[in-house]
Amino acid sequence: MSAEEKKTESLDFIRAIVVEDRANNKHGGRVETRFPPEPNGYLHIGHAKAICIDFEIAAENDGVCHLRMDDTNPTKENMEYVESIKKDVEWLGFEWGEHFYFASDYFERMYECAVELIKRGKAYVCDLTPGEWKDYLGTLTEPGKNPPHRDRSVEENLDLFARMRAGEFEDGAKVVRAKIDMASPNIHMRDPAIYRIRRFHHYRLGDDWCVYPMYDFAHCLEDSFENITHSFCTLEFEIHRPLYDWVLSALELESHPQQIEFARLNLSYTVMSKRKLLELVNEKLVNGWDDPRMPTLSGLRRRGYTPAAIRNFCDKIGVTKFNSLTDVALLEHCVRDDLNKHASRYLAVMNPIKVVIENYREGETDWLDAVNNPEMSEAGTRKVPFTKELYIDRNDFMEEPPKKFFRLGPGREVRLRYGYFITCTDFIKDENGEVVELRCTYDPETRGGNSPDGRKVKGTIHWVSAEHAVKGEVRLYDRLFTVESPGEKGVDFKTQLNPDSLDIEDVLLEPELAKVSVGESVQFERQGYFCCDPDSTDDKPVFNRTVSLRDSWSKKTKK
Ligand code: ATP
Ligand code: MG
Repeated sequence: MSAEEKKTESLDFIRAIVVEDRANNKHGGRVETRFPPEPNGYLHIGHAKAICIDFEIAAENDGVCHLRMDDTNPTKENMEYVESIKKDVEWLGFEWGEHFYFASDYFERMYECAVELIKRGKAYVCDLTPGEWKDYLGTLTEPGKNPPHRDRSVEENLDLFARMRAGEFEDGAKVVRAKIDMASPNIHMRDPAIYRIRRFHHYRLGDDWCVYPMYDFAHCLEDSFENITHSFCTLEFEIHRPLYDWVLSALELESHPQQIEFARLNLSYTVMSKRKLLELVNEKLVNGWDDPRMPTLSGLRRRGYTPAAIRNFCDKIGVTKFNSLTDVALLEHCVRDDLNKHASRYLAVMNPIKVVIENYREGETDWLDAVNNPEMSEAGTRKVPFTKELYIDRNDFMEEPPKKFFRLGPGREVRLRYGYFITCTDFIKDENGEVVELRCTYDPETRGGNSPDGRKVKGTIHWVSAEHAVKGEVRLYDRLFTVESPGEKGVDFKTQLNPDSLDIEDVLLEPELAKVSVGESVQFERQGYFCCDPDSTDDKPVFNRTVSLRDSWSKKTKK
């Protein structure tokens, strides 16, 4: 949707705030947002929601959106994640231009801010051990107590903090705390830690630092240093907002961004925590971050989900302040909707049974015209070979078909897609009584799928030429979990994995399908949308099923 179209729609609560701020010339009418992932995992569909909010709202308001690696926690971050994040944001269709930042580039400035707070009497070094810390914190219903070192002199605090940085103390021996209010009803305001000692190798800065800023101290500073105007984040940060504002006010920083929270995306049958996704990867319960069953953007991309479909999904779910569970069928609906417009149709048979056309000449090939995409005339046509021996899907034949079965059965006539009408005259069984071959006749007058005598057939089925078919592999995916909310009520989410989430099958492909390039999406007629996988070789194309054709979402909404 263009910015103009969006403006005429009713605005969600965040967009309404931003538009009003601009009208009031707040921040000089400037809009500057940021997407601040921590490079400790791959991005997932929940991040896509945040990315759309951050980048689209900036674009709609002639603003810019920064991409910032929020890398202040050295334990789990690395460059592979940084690169994957850039790739995924770009793939979704967003540009940060020159505004690419690392929070770790601000460590010196952050340290100076902590020094400044100490000088202002608004922070102090505390020697409590983590065990003792709890005794002073209080609970949700009781206020905390002032810790013993709360009234150290500024000089002593400055000295201790400098020695913390210099590595004189053990990890955890001391922290710097903001001096706010141990009796605050908001536990996050009870003198929260802002710097801790941590000897970890930072993936960018190595061992330069052994003190690291805490998230609540670092994040507001990052936003302020970058002159962010509106800082969007998920609802769990709402209770941290007073601290965000306190830090910036205590330092009297000129740039004081406004934090606004929205509900995170939760999807049914999906886990979205990076920690859990990492567990699936590390324990090899999936085949890496880009396994097509993963809700990561790299997994969805490999599966065949398109950026347009994901952006449209994010638009449909909207922006609210209430946590809820979104039906994964809505996402699948958006994917189908987009692929329907762009994906060319092809013939592929997954469950083959041989058909011999008795009245067709041996060794001849009739190259039939097939329309690539009825939704898009510019997609053109291609040739599909018709020969004496064909394969159709086993499920399109029944020995004793019921009345409503409009496909093939003894004596019944169907249309072959783009081809002829055929009539089943006989079938052959093997020693186990299984039908292994159908004998049919074709009507040469029905080339292209219409009969000159106006004869109607109800069924149209897909097929491939036995001689020309290319053998390939299809990977059919089902939900990764068997329950709507994996991990709920203390259950280990890994016990709820769907053992049938991946089914690998052979497929017979019409020859043109062997020319599809990796990453390209196609429709296998009557079966679903498929995307060509990087595992494909010259001899053996591999396709991931993106979604089936059946749309449970639009059925639901039509009801
Ligand atoms: P996790 O808790 O899984 O580690 P995170 O939220 O800490 O994820 P970040 O890298 O910090 O991951 O996330 C970057 C941004 O994406 C944050 O602003 C966060 O609020 C947002 N985000 C993360 N998950 C979701 C979600 N499910 N829906 C919407 N936004 C999300
Ligand atoms: Mg986070």
